[in-house]
Amino acid sequence: MREEPVYIALDRSGELKRRAEALESRLGSCDICPRECGVNRLENAPGFCHSGRLPVVSAVCAHHGEEPAISGSRGSGTIFFGNCNMRCVYCQNYQISQDYQAQQSKEIDSHTLAERMLYLQDEAGCHNINFVSPSHFVPQLVRGVLDAVPMGLRLPLVYNTSSYDSIRSLEKLEGIISIYLADLRYASNNWGSKFSQVTDYVEKARAAIREMYRQVGELTVDDDGIAQKGLIVRHLILPHRLAGSEDSLGWLAREVSPEVTVSIMAQYFPAHRAAKFPLLSRTILSSEYSEVTRLLSKLGIENGWVQEMGSSEDYLPDFACENQPFSLMVSRQSCS
Ligand code: SF4
Repeated sequence: MREEPVYIALDRSGELKRRAEALESRLGSCDICPRECGVNRLENAPGFCHSGRLPVVSAVCAHHGEEPAISGSRGSGTIFFGNCNMRCVYCQNYQISQDYQAQQSKEIDSHTLAERMLYLQDEAGCHNINFVSPSHFVPQLVRGVLDAVPMGLRLPLVYNTSSYDSIRSLEKLEGIISIYLADLRYASNNWGSKFSQVTDYVEKARAAIREMYRQVGELTVDDDGIAQKGLIVRHLILPHRLAGSEDSLGWLAREVSPEVTVSIMAQYFPAHRAAKFPLLSRTILSSEYSEVTRLLSKLGIENGWVQEMGSSEDYLPDFACENQPFSLMVSRQSCS
């Protein structure tokens, strides 16, 4: 029988409610993510993420294109939050992450968010609930879980993040989130600043990943290979070594653990505004891909997956199709 998620016990003891309230109180002078805008989101004052008191949910679907341990055979129950605390010029989700005016109509209350979770669990039959781009909606996420537990929520929860996260916010997720699916995007604040409008990505993301690892450790899966707990670090290969793969993966192996599960992504496509930036205006070369795969062997990273080359356009979502933004999926190969 599957183990009961820790958030059930947190709910029973009243701790889940205390966490939701503590996080919500910080919305009055928002420091939910590392930008620390200090705006009053309880009154819908806009900070960098243009998000107010209520969660913005832009799409809900069973996703079959995540890592095998996340999607399994029945799909991962993805809840795509709208808006973002980054501004990646190549964002493939730009329709929902960078058009906040269009997303205003997608605001829902916490009970409706809870109902979406229950739909993914009971009707779609998904393996987990996968919160995508949650960094600016941590209080709303916890409130939604608090509402969903008495309705019958029992699935493991996945926090699918750019890793530009506040440690204080992550600490409140301990025991609530079972699986962290965390990007490791840049090893240079210069590129982070130029391409994502984040001046301190390297320090903040590395600290966040350490905290996630402290909470959940290495990936554990059930008898069917479905993730139950742990950290998966995603690394998107960018053209011209802009992702700093050697530095980033070296740091991960050295400072976190070579045993950490890594998902190497080869799907970079110059989406959104990327064509205007010469360094980002093409997909990756096979030489850039091989360099990263060789690096994995050199660093002794053996756990995880490497996405096939030539998959760039297969992963591009279209959020005009709200309940099925992903039409075509390609498999990921094991690292080893
Ligand atoms: S969550 Fe939004 S408003 Fe709050 S600090 Fe981050 S970007 Fe600013």
